[in-house]
Amino acid sequence: MKYIVILGDGMADYPLAAYDHKTPLQLAHKPYIDQLVKSSETGMVQTIPEGYPPGSDVANMSVLGYEPEIFYTGRSPLEAVSLGVDLREKDIAFRCNLVTLSLEENYGDKTMLDYSAGEITSAEAALLIQEISKEIGTEEFHFYPGISYRHLMVWINGAWEFDLTPPHDISDRVIGSYLPKGAGSDVLTRMMIKSEEILKNHPVNQKRKELGLQPATSIWLWGLGKKPNFTPFVNKYGLEGSVICAVDLIKGLGICAGLNTPHVDGATGGVHTDFLAKAEAALAELKAGKDFIYLHVEAPDEAGHQGNAQEKIGAIEKIDELVVGRLLRGLEEMKEDYRLLILPDHPTPISIKTHTAEPVPFLIYDSRRNVSSGINRYTEEEISAQGNFVKSGPALMAKFIKGE
Ligand SMILES: [Zn+2]
Repeated sequence: MKYIVILGDGMADYPLAAYDHKTPLQLAHKPYIDQLVKSSETGMVQTIPEGYPPGSDVANMSVLGYEPEIFYTGRSPLEAVSLGVDLREKDIAFRCNLVTLSLEENYGDKTMLDYSAGEITSAEAALLIQEISKEIGTEEFHFYPGISYRHLMVWINGAWEFDLTPPHDISDRVIGSYLPKGAGSDVLTRMMIKSEEILKNHPVNQKRKELGLQPATSIWLWGLGKKPNFTPFVNKYGLEGSVICAVDLIKGLGICAGLNTPHVDGATGGVHTDFLAKAEAALAELKAGKDFIYLHVEAPDEAGHQGNAQEKIGAIEKIDELVVGRLLRGLEEMKEDYRLLILPDHPTPISIKTHTAEPVPFLIYDSRRNVSSGINRYTEEEISAQGNFVKSGPALMAKFIKGE
């Protein structure tokens, strides 16, 4: 028996006024998923525990079957793990975004134009982070390049009683009131201000401007936390498995859970990521003997943050055709029984360009069973109207794997 989770990050949404009050899941042409849902178990799941911010870190941890109330210490330690950085007990990891800020003189007067610096390439970003490291890195503050705009800073024996804001939550807003808060946080603000001077005239940015791309004008520190301590997935759920993803955060979750995290060529975590490569990677892991796959696609979330309905619809259609369609063909060829769990981690509504903590629709398909769900399409409206509710990600994982 093979168990496959297909996670479309931020896929759930609100009805769009400009699209006849339909959601991207309703608007997308997704024949494979809509066929599966007709004979699946369906419901809504509350992935974000009460009182937690609706981040992809908390949400994916929950869906992967780990109670955030027990295992969550912050986003950045998970990314640090994925970069192979060995955090010690008292080290604090910070997410270090490369962002695009507007040109006002005063740092606090600037606007967050792009939390991803135009989805800057990893190669360009590595040069910029190198420069940052050279200029403001010390024995105490270490910088590590990651993927695209997502990088890491570790504060050795650092402090962490700070209030830091995710940059994707303040798109198009003036940053002044969202700068680091809490005693001693000025050291972080000073680094962000200094980074702007360092990056401003860097050749990488000059080149990007010439090409009409967003320059990476500043670092933005957030998502801090300490070293996590997970029970291995195989001990918790009895399966050896793999996480297929492009983003450090999810890869870090996989590593913490003791799952395999193969590198997928062409997967970037952006809206142009290679969907098919992920499906192929998942099939390769299954053929190599793994029984559990957690396949994560970032693209619908990115489109949500950008407020781009067409991109989001397109991302859902690509998940359907290139991920779900390909996996179904591959599983047929393998002649294995399988269970599929398809869901988002949280909604990222186009209209508000950020995550919400509301329950999301899921489907569980079992190749051995031919049940009728009474559901015709995988949409927020149809599945929530049905009234089935699962209280948490770990409860859903137990239901998916152990049939509880
Ligand atoms: Zn997410």
